[in-house]
Amino acid sequence: MNGRPDGSALVTGASRGIGAAIAKALARDGWPVGVNYRKDAEGAEAVVAEITGAGGRALALQGDVADPETAERLFGTLEGEFGPVLVLVNNAGVRADALSPQIADEDWQKVIDTNLSAAFRLTRRALRPMIRARYGRVVNIASIVGQRANPGQANYAASKAGLVALTKTVAAEVAKRGVTVNAVAPGLIETEMTDGVGEKLLEHVPARRAGTPDEVAECVRFLTTDGAAYVTGVCLTVDGGLTA
Ligand code: NAP
Repeated sequence: MNGRPDGSALVTGASRGIGAAIAKALARDGWPVGVNYRKDAEGAEAVVAEITGAGGRALALQGDVADPETAERLFGTLEGEFGPVLVLVNNAGVRADALSPQIADEDWQKVIDTNLSAAFRLTRRALRPMIRARYGRVVNIASIVGQRANPGQANYAASKAGLVALTKTVAAEVAKRGVTVNAVAPGLIETEMTDGVGEKLLEHVPARRAGTPDEVAECVRFLTTDGAAYVTGVCLTVDGGLTA
């Protein structure tokens, strides 16, 4: 445990994949964790059980982050249970791939709402208590697709590039308040989201393998520590050298 104030961590989209690994890593660091999910209650409860079984504290929190009402509900519950949310990881993400001429308005909006607008709303809700505590860590899970072309993902790429721009601006706004805001941009990571899409891309990965959720979670964990207090406004790429 560090010299940080008492409080909790909220990880969105933590019922499986990268979010589940982040929730467990933060719990190992002593944070009581809100394990948010949209549909997969069983997955979220399994993450909570693993954390509590290892002596940590966690709570499964249902909520669609794309719904503007969700931020207040998630924060209210977590604050009541575990105290102020001092770590926010905006991890929940979706994709709806198609070449640009075929992207329907609905699929454009769903991806932007979930991956970008939700992160803004949750960050907006998170900042005041963090500033009050003179301590806060926001980590946004972006993607290398926000930095380099991946045909068929214009909506997803735009959402992730927007997330990095959001990260940098908010970081500069709150840096003098003891709050850091960073992004982590994974490359190809083995999760349900990438089921069946990775084989061809792997040839281009210098490390010649996909990354694991734990390898992303470890970078996120670092950014939430006291040791990372002077790291803000960066986007840390975790991609086995793909964009090197
Ligand atoms: P995943 O296995 O598909 O898991 C997505 C998680 O997000 C699930 O827990 C899901 O919960 C939750 N979620 C989706 N929509 C939600 C919503 N509207 N509200 C609340 N929760 C929602 O994805 P992943 O691969 O772990 O990806 C996690 C993050 O990393 C995403 O932001 C993704 O864009 C990013 N990323 C992934 C890769 C990769 O290679 N896997 C690469 C770059 C970036 P429910 O099942 O309960 O709905």
